[in-house]
Amino acid sequence: MAKHLQNPRLAKIHRSYTVEEIAILYNIHKNTVRSWIKDGLLTCDNKRPTLILGRQLREFLIRKRKKNKSTCPPGTIYCVGCKLPQKPVDNIVLYQPITDTKGMLIGTCPCDGHRIYRFISSLKLKQINLEFIVTKKTADEGLNNSC
Ligand SMILES: [Zn+2]
Repeated sequence: MAKHLQNPRLAKIHRSYTVEEIAILYNIHKNTVRSWIKDGLLTCDNKRPTLILGRQLREFLIRKRKKNKSTCPPGTIYCVGCKLPQKPVDNIVLYQPITDTKGMLIGTCPCDGHRIYRFISSLKLKQINLEFIVTKKTADEGLNNSC
């Protein structure tokens, strides 16, 4: 499901927009645009009606999108089911390698057993160990990797 994320590329860099035009462009309420201005969307000063440069709008939406992606505080993983960052049950996650450098952390959401997962670089495993109790997948590999 698309999470009310506005496509930054809809904003044309070389034009400017009024609050109303942005509301129409993204099919949102004018108050939402005003809250973006409060959140740091830059406007052209001293002009009426308020004008926002397309370039500023685009940059703001890109920043906003990045922010949305990394809202999980340490020790949590985003649960797609709950739409919230959640602490895995018992703080235990399973590290499942995908390639030599990349893997997936899998945990269980405390809500009602959703699976929660996060892709990470294997280089970050040490840091991850501070946040979670990481177990490595051995069930399918027998005891060969028990060193
Ligand atoms: Zn959940």
